[in-house]
Amino acid sequence: MLLNELRTHYTDQINPDNFEGKTVTIAGWVYEVRDLGGICFVVVRDREGKAQVTLVKKKTDVELFNAARRLVRESVVSVTGNVKASDKAPNGFEIIPSRINLLNEADSPLPMDTTGKVEAELDTRLDSRFIDLRKPGTNAIFRIRHEVLKNVRKYLSEINFIETSTPKVVATATEGGTSLFPITYFTTEAFLNQSPQLFKQILMSGGMDRVFEIGPIFRAEEHDTRRHLNEATSIDIESSFCDHFDVMEILENMISNVYSSVKQNSQKQLDELGIDLEIPEKPFLKLKYEEAIDIVNQNSEEDLVWGDDLGTSAEHIVGNDVFERTGQSHYFIIDWPTEIKPFYAMPYENNPEISKSFDLMHRTMELASGAQRIHHHTILRERIESQGLNSDSFDFYLDAFRFGMPPHAGWGIGCERLLMTMLGAENIRDVVLFPRDRRRLSP
Ligand code: ATP
Ligand code: MG
Repeated sequence: MLLNELRTHYTDQINPDNFEGKTVTIAGWVYEVRDLGGICFVVVRDREGKAQVTLVKKKTDVELFNAARRLVRESVVSVTGNVKASDKAPNGFEIIPSRINLLNEADSPLPMDTTGKVEAELDTRLDSRFIDLRKPGTNAIFRIRHEVLKNVRKYLSEINFIETSTPKVVATATEGGTSLFPITYFTTEAFLNQSPQLFKQILMSGGMDRVFEIGPIFRAEEHDTRRHLNEATSIDIESSFCDHFDVMEILENMISNVYSSVKQNSQKQLDELGIDLEIPEKPFLKLKYEEAIDIVNQNSEEDLVWGDDLGTSAEHIVGNDVFERTGQSHYFIIDWPTEIKPFYAMPYENNPEISKSFDLMHRTMELASGAQRIHHHTILRERIESQGLNSDSFDFYLDAFRFGMPPHAGWGIGCERLLMTMLGAENIRDVVLFPRDRRRLSP
């Protein structure tokens, strides 16, 4: 229980059965004032819900009554009063106040409505995120995000992973390419890291054995889609003495665990969003890349050949096909052509055209990419060169492979995509507090 002058209880801690006649202090925002002349209702909203404060004119001090009816919506107040059971009030109780402390008056008009009566455009909501977050539905999304990350940490810690943090300001591109944000680092150029990949591999050489990181990744790609951000949160793991199948199993167990914990611990928020969460069934289907290509070609006008990447529409075709056949939204695409995967993906010994790589897919989009990694220094150097990169600039990374690098595997999953597919959000920006995209740099 909270105990101080401004607040003793959240609104959802109060109930008519145990609190009848007791004095409580709640604190929050004025959601609504209904002044009916002889009686005035003030609904106060806090993070956990709402409570009705009732003032009957005849029984209330004049100053208190007048202060209540003059309250401006969304002002911040602390209200002390006695709890009284009431069938008509929301949650079955009302508070008869002895004190209303106006802590900060809100300006009016508000930049947007908080009652849910007027639907605002996403852009308007993001411009006024501080107001948007006061809506229970928006609040629910970020409470669930917390539950997701809490469970990711718990699950990975339980199976011996160590949480790490690696630099976001780096000298070299993780995978080459142009999708980097350059920054000025004193007198030289540096970049914002697009992935913790190289660093988490170095940690394998360092004997850390199993590591995970939850951190920002930056991609300077100029996409304008519902599933791409320019700053995203990646959940990454790397594990020694493992192959790609071992880390796929960790990934599907983690997904299943996260869904279960959200269903168990965030029911109030799921109800708020009107979501009946289905826990994905294990094991997830493992579809070979070549099978995925066939599915696309059989079910569409597309004419993909071996070696092509899967675009958005191809991803949808395969996702729908798998869903129709198995009823499952999650599946793996495995055994990708080595050429279209990053240089660190391990080729099969007996068929080096194909790599020990995988993507975890959701019906509508890619969720994660992973692979067993190359752990031999010379092969890795060759792979870097063959992708047109200068291997000398990777010496800080390659050195770790020369002096005892164990075999290892890992993956990275986008936290926002995990959350967005779980909640059925239409736009990834819905599940990010302050999204960064081509057109949005503020707030
Ligand atoms: P896509 O092909 O969908 O653009 P990717 O293959 O470029 O994704 P990876 O480099 O494999 O992405 O990154 C691993 C995971 O990180 C992705 O599966 C995705 O969940 C997440 N991710 C990567 N880029 C973005 C982005 N721009 N916005 C949001 N999430 C991203
Ligand atoms: Mg990928």
